[in-house]
Amino acid sequence: MGAQPYYGPDFDLLRRQDPELAQVLLDELERLRGGLQLIASENFTSPAVLAALGSTLTNKYAEGYPGRRYYGGCEVVDRAERIATERARRLFGADHANVQPHSGASANLAAYAALLQPGDTMLAMALSHGGHLTHGSKVNFSGRWFDVVSYGVRRDTELVDYDEVRDLALRHQPKVIVCGATSYPRLLDYAVFRGIADEVGAWLMADIAHPAGLMAAGVVPSAVPYADVVTFTTHKTLRGPRGGGILCTEELAARVDRAVFPFVQGGPLMHAVAAKAVAFGEALRPEFAAYARRVVANARALCDALAAADMRPVSGGTDTHLALIDLRGLGVSGAEAERRCAAAGITLNRNAIPYDPEPPAVTSGLRVGTPCVTTQGMGPEELKEVGTLVAEAVRNPGGAGDVRERVTALLTIHRPYLSEY
Ligand SMILES: *Cc1c(COP(=O)(O)O)cnc(C)c1O
Repeated sequence: MGAQPYYGPDFDLLRRQDPELAQVLLDELERLRGGLQLIASENFTSPAVLAALGSTLTNKYAEGYPGRRYYGGCEVVDRAERIATERARRLFGADHANVQPHSGASANLAAYAALLQPGDTMLAMALSHGGHLTHGSKVNFSGRWFDVVSYGVRRDTELVDYDEVRDLALRHQPKVIVCGATSYPRLLDYAVFRGIADEVGAWLMADIAHPAGLMAAGVVPSAVPYADVVTFTTHKTLRGPRGGGILCTEELAARVDRAVFPFVQGGPLMHAVAAKAVAFGEALRPEFAAYARRVVANARALCDALAAADMRPVSGGTDTHLALIDLRGLGVSGAEAERRCAAAGITLNRNAIPYDPEPPAVTSGLRVGTPCVTTQGMGPEELKEVGTLVAEAVRNPGGAGDVRERVTALLTIHRPYLSEY
């Protein structure tokens, strides 16, 4: 018998009714069990989250909010959404939570819609320095509909240049300042961002898509006390279903809710809302705080092992779940390093480093993260070995077979969807 995903008897049903598609699910489980998953934005949800996702709540139309829906028969799904919002508020210490955004990008679209009109000015981190597409890239709605001013990191420290943020804010008077990033290994100083926003009368929006789980666990300082609006994803460090959410002050609650529905979205995905509730419940437990602490300790161990092999961590290290590696010392591009790692059974992504001389499809960097390997039970000792394996795979493509064997040895002990959550 092949590998079993967590669908129990329902999976056998799928296998009988649609073997072609069932095989895709089995192959994907096999793929993620068969290699090291180091993509910083991914994680492995619990079987309980998968169970909620695979539920009949997917059938229900529930446009609106609990107690004020535009369809009948919502009294049961209302309970799921109330539990989810109540847990999200408790988890982050927020006044208000909206758990309906389908993704992080949808949450950002709604947050902008709540705060801005087309043509308004916003200040956000440049994509090339670690920001996100939805923070004003020209190929995204945010860059098309708003007047975007971008800040970056300093060349010498590779840390956010707060003097530049302040100068740009004073000069351009943005209506919204966005802080948050997709490949920034260090902590952001939200108090400084708050001060700058207050100085120019801007809203402060924190996009914590990446560190949300670490903040929920209290392992890194939270943006919630400082920002007017906080957007997050539920599937990265938070280890829930793929999805998004928004936290905000009481003052903005009605504006944010109207922006999510009816402005940006139609019916919410109630099975995903239920799965978010399950994930928030898991994140409220002390075991999750221990998990998040280990994610960070593991990232440090991985980063140190890579640094010892001449793979320079941008900014000199990490305070979070991810590290950004400058490969220029090895003379290997990000794209080539990504390919060499894939050949050795290691999945990660090439990533631009600040002031990268290479184009985005090539890059000079790699991004690595520890949410997945930590979920499958690895600790700092194993991450030291993982660092050695990544370095070996990148430096010596001829030895991919040996590296793959050592990867397999690690995975026979730490297999995802076999250990306890
Ligand atoms: C991942 C990410 C998003 C988008 O999340 P999706 O669910 O992929 O839409 C938004 N902002 C930041 C900073 C991210 O890292």
